[in-house]
Amino acid sequence: MKAVRIHGYHQQPVVDEVPEPTVKGPFDVVVKIGGAGVCRTDLHIIEGQWQAAMNPALPYTLGHENAGWVHEVGSAVTNVAVGDTVILHPLITDGVCRACRAGDDMHCADGSFPGLSHDGGMAEYLLTSARACVKLDPQTQPKDVAALADAGITAYHAVRKAIPLLYPGTSCVVIGAGGLGHIGVQCLAALTATRIIVVDRNPDALKLAGQIGAHHTVIADGGQVDAVNEMTDGGADVVLDFVAEQGAENDGWAMTRPAGSYFVIGYGGTLQVPTLDIISTERNVVGNIVGTYNDLAELMALAEGGRVTLHTKTYPLAAAADAVADLDAGRVRGRAILVP
Ligand SMILES: [Zn+2]
Repeated sequence: MKAVRIHGYHQQPVVDEVPEPTVKGPFDVVVKIGGAGVCRTDLHIIEGQWQAAMNPALPYTLGHENAGWVHEVGSAVTNVAVGDTVILHPLITDGVCRACRAGDDMHCADGSFPGLSHDGGMAEYLLTSARACVKLDPQTQPKDVAALADAGITAYHAVRKAIPLLYPGTSCVVIGAGGLGHIGVQCLAALTATRIIVVDRNPDALKLAGQIGAHHTVIADGGQVDAVNEMTDGGADVVLDFVAEQGAENDGWAMTRPAGSYFVIGYGGTLQVPTLDIISTERNVVGNIVGTYNDLAELMALAEGGRVTLHTKTYPLAAAADAVADLDAGRVRGRAILVP
């Protein structure tokens, strides 16, 4: 089969001919890929940023945002059958550790991450496990929803955690209305009664945000902190920062009101805050990484009900290098999806 593999850091991935994966363990599932999203994390992998954390053996297949159809199942698999349409939680988890028993899939003591730690889904077939499969309505086209497997679940997870803080009368700032942020805005609109304020550098992104649930938009032209603090009478109750680099992280903290919470979702920057500032204002900094299996299942219920829609651009698998280059150059609106 064809697979998009990374052979070395700071090199473009290439399309190779490799053996198809097959079921080995009783809970293994092989999925025929219908869509694989291209993520900024793929750019960061190529740059070598994840090498120390994941230490994958090269070459390996990229792709951690996958949906498709079940192709083969292990002897103990009962929750899905060959032919089922599925979206995949990004992690393969053991199901028996404390984190798994608490539903906290991302912190599985023995988890692995296809596309980061070993072969992922930018290929014709992917090996995963029964626990990763969320069964979908057979009408669903995998290429239309694949981006919910990582970008979507991450945005949903942050919004889900923030719900108790976002009672009526509050305000929530979303920094960055791109691939993740435009899903976050729709989740906020569907799940909360908060006032949604979106901050972005790009006027087109703000226009889209206004159409999908933002109550106010603020152009990030240098005056965004003052604009938000005036609009919210001293800062937002919650700031969801989908950028968190190139200065956005300091803006996000400065837009958070006393006793409010600053959620870090994007990454790359460094937050520098005096500890006196933290104690005197009782502001919180909250980290977020992907989400749980149930987060993904809940998000798919929203998507199948038409409450969350994705803006995507598809590429054939063979054009993976073009998709990566387009994402790097900012030429993708919404999400780039590879279709084998
Ligand atoms: Zn576990």
